[in-house]
Amino acid sequence: MNQPIARESRHDPAFLGEVGGRLGRSLEKELGTRTGKALGKLGVHTVGDLLRHYPRRYGDRGKLTALRELRVGDHVTVIAEVSSNDLRQMRGKSGSILNVRITDGTDELLLTFFGKHSRSLEHHQRRLRRGATGMFSGTVSAYRGDRQLTHPNYETFDDLDDEFAAVQKVDWPIPIYPASASIASWQIEKAVETVLRPLTAEDVPEALPAAYRREHDLPDVMTALRGLHAPRTPEDWQRARRRFRHEEAFVLQTALAQRRAATLSDAATAYEPRGGGIRDAFEARLPFELTAGQWEVAAVLEREIAAPVPMMRLLQGEVGSGKTVVALRAMLQVVDGGGQAALLAPTEVLAQQHHRSITGLLGPLAEAGMLGGAEEGTRVVLLTGSMGAAARRKALAAAASGEAGIVIGTHALLSEVVQIPDLGLVVVDEQHRFGVEQRDALRAKGRATPHLLVMTATPIPRTVAMTSFGDLETSTLRELPAGRAGVSTNIVPADRPRWVERTWERVREEVEAGGRAYVVCPRITAGENGGDATEDGFSDDGSDELFALDEAAEPRRPLASVEEVAALLRQTPALAGVAIGEMHGQLPTDTKDAAMADFAAGRTPVLVSTTVIEVGVDVPEATVMVVLDADRFGLSQLHQLRGRVGRGTKPGMCLAVTAAHPDSGSFERLAAFAATTDGFELAETDLKLRREGDVLGATQSGRSSSLRLLRVLQDADIIDAARAAARELVAHDPALDSEPGLARMVAESIDEDAAAYLERT
Ligand code: ADP
Ligand code: MG
Repeated sequence: MNQPIARESRHDPAFLGEVGGRLGRSLEKELGTRTGKALGKLGVHTVGDLLRHYPRRYGDRGKLTALRELRVGDHVTVIAEVSSNDLRQMRGKSGSILNVRITDGTDELLLTFFGKHSRSLEHHQRRLRRGATGMFSGTVSAYRGDRQLTHPNYETFDDLDDEFAAVQKVDWPIPIYPASASIASWQIEKAVETVLRPLTAEDVPEALPAAYRREHDLPDVMTALRGLHAPRTPEDWQRARRRFRHEEAFVLQTALAQRRAATLSDAATAYEPRGGGIRDAFEARLPFELTAGQWEVAAVLEREIAAPVPMMRLLQGEVGSGKTVVALRAMLQVVDGGGQAALLAPTEVLAQQHHRSITGLLGPLAEAGMLGGAEEGTRVVLLTGSMGAAARRKALAAAASGEAGIVIGTHALLSEVVQIPDLGLVVVDEQHRFGVEQRDALRAKGRATPHLLVMTATPIPRTVAMTSFGDLETSTLRELPAGRAGVSTNIVPADRPRWVERTWERVREEVEAGGRAYVVCPRITAGENGGDATEDGFSDDGSDELFALDEAAEPRRPLASVEEVAALLRQTPALAGVAIGEMHGQLPTDTKDAAMADFAAGRTPVLVSTTVIEVGVDVPEATVMVVLDADRFGLSQLHQLRGRVGRGTKPGMCLAVTAAHPDSGSFERLAAFAATTDGFELAETDLKLRREGDVLGATQSGRSSSLRLLRVLQDADIIDAARAAARELVAHDPALDSEPGLARMVAESIDEDAAAYLERT
C-alpha cells in the first residue's frame, strides 16, 4: 500500500531544521535555559509546542476564582483578593511566619510564607496588602482545617501593570495555562508573548483553506493564536478556540481521507458471487433465517467484495447481533472465488471460539479432502501463539498452500512466517484492540490488497467512528435475532450482607435450573496493585477502560480477585456442592480451554473470571453475570460483559456489585448502566462521563496526541463539516499541492501518531 505522506519528519533533524523554521526552535535557546527547562517538564520544547500549549481557561480581574472547589493536592492558579495579612515571630522557634488570607468574597485560602527574619518577609507583606488582587499559584495542602498554599508563586495586578505598563490590559481576559510548581501561569503567558511577538504569517502554517475559513467564519491562524494567548475580549478566545477545533478536525480528516484514497487506488481482487459453491451450501445448511438487518449488511458486503476496489468497512453490532455469521458468508464468497480469508481475534479464547463456531456452522463444508468432507468444501485452520510445533507447522502449511480457505488466529497471524498467498478478505474482530499498523501487516500478506471488514461489538457513537475509524465506511446491525430473551440489570450494594447473600442464592437457583453463572473480578490475585481490570493482555495497547474517578475520595480497599473469590465461593453455604471454575489470562492455554469447556458443558456451572470472557464468548446456557467491584469497569465493558448472558432462550440477569457510595460519580455510572440495555446510549454516556483523551485511548485511535480542543461528542457538527470538506479537497488534490500549510500539519500529525504508537508498543 503506498503511503501518500512522508513519515520520517520527527526523526530527521534536517527536516526539522528546514521545515520547522521558527516553530522548530528550541525554547531553551529562545527563552533561556531556566524557563526552557521548566517548560520542557510540561512537554513543551519548541516554539511550536508553546504556541499549542493552550490556556486551560480564562480569568477576569473582576471575577474571582471560586475557592470552594479547590481540592488538597491540586496544583492551582486562582484569582483572589487579599483579606488580611499577619507577620509574626514563630512561637518557640526562631524565624518568622507570614500568614495571608485571600478570598473570593465567600471562601478563603491561607497563604503561608516562612523566613529566617521578619525582614525577609516584609516585601511579601507590602505587596500582599489587604484589598490587593492578583493571581496565586501553588499546590493546595491542608493545615488545621484550612486549605493553604505554602510559598505560593504570585503576581498582584499592580505588579503586572507596572511591568506591562499597559493600561487597557485591565479588562482583558487573563489566560490561565496548565502550569507547574516550577513555572507559573503568568510566566508562561510572558513566555508565549515573547515567542509570539516576532512571528509572521510565513512562520506559521495555515492548515485551513481560505474558502473553508470564510464559509465557517473562522479567523486565520495568526489572528487565532493571538486571540487564544492574548485575547482582548472573550469573543477573541472563543473564536480562536472554535478555529482550532476546526483545524484539528480538518487535519485529522484530511489524513484519513488520504489514507482512504491511497487504499482505494490499490487494486483488489474482485470476488463475484458464484452459484452452487460453498456459500450457497452454507446458506442451505444454516439452521436459522438471517434477519432483515443481516441480509442488508450481507448484500453490501457481497457487492463490495465483488468490486476490484478494496472494501474498507466497519461493522458494528451488539454482542450476539449476528455479525460473525454475516462475516462468514462474505468469507465464503471469497473462497468460492479461489481466495482465502483471515479472521483476526484479540485473544486466544476468542480465536478458538471462532474456530469452533465456524467449523460448527460449516460442518462437512470445513472438511475438504477428508473422508465425509463436502466436495465444494474448504479447510478452516487455527493459528495461535501457544500451539504446539507440529500443529503449528500443519496449519502454516495449509495456509501457505492455499488449501485453507479460512485462517483464524490471534496476533500470531501477523508474524512474517505466516503466509496466506491468496488472501482476499481480512476480517478483524474487535478492531479497537488492534492498531492500524497491525491491520496493515495483515493486509500486506496477500498478492493484491485484501478487502477489509472490521467488526466491533462496542457501540461507537457516529462521530467517534468518524474520528477513530474515519477511513472506514460504517454498517450497523441494530436488531438482535429473534428468540433472545434479554437481560435485566440490578445494582447490589456490597455493604448490604443480605443483598450479597441473595446474589449467591440467585446463582444457585439458576444453576439448579440448568443455567450457568459468570462471576467477574477486576483482578487475578489478591494484593497486586489495583487496576488491571482489563487484564488479559489488552491493556498494553492503551485501551484500558478502567476507572478510578473517585480514587481520592474513597478509602483504598482491596479489589475482588479471581483466586480469592473462587476460594470464598467454595465456602459459601448458598453454593455448597456447586463446582466452581476459574479463568484468567495468565493461565496456560490448555487450562483456559479446559475451564471454558467445563463451564460450557456444565461441569463447573459457576466460572470466576477476569474480563478475559468479555468479548464474544458464547455459552447459550449462561444466565447470570455477577460483576464484582463493578464500578471499576467502564460502561462499554460492563455492557460487553452483560452481553454474555441471556443469549439463549432464557432471560439473563446481570448483578453489578459495588462498594461505591450512592452519591458518587461511580454509582451514577452504574445507575446509567442498569437503566438501559441500549449499547449506543451507554457509549454516549460513557463519553460524557470521561475525558476525551480516555475515549480516544479506549477506541485505539492513537490520534489523541493531535486532538487538544476537539471534543468528539459536542463537536459533531465540526467533524461533519471538516470531513466533507477534507474528502472533497483530497479528491481534487490528493497531494495537497494547493494547501502546503495543511500538507505540513498532516505530515506532523501522522508523525505524532507514529511516535505515540511506538511508545505504546
Ligand atoms: P456476534 O458476532 O454479533 O456476537 P454471532 O454471529 O456470533 O453474533 O451470533 C450470535 C449467536 O446467534 C450465534 O450462536 C449465531 O449462530 C446465532 N445467530 C446469528 N444470526 C442468527 C439469526 N438470524 N437467527 C438466530 N440465531 C442467529
Ligand atoms: Mg462475535
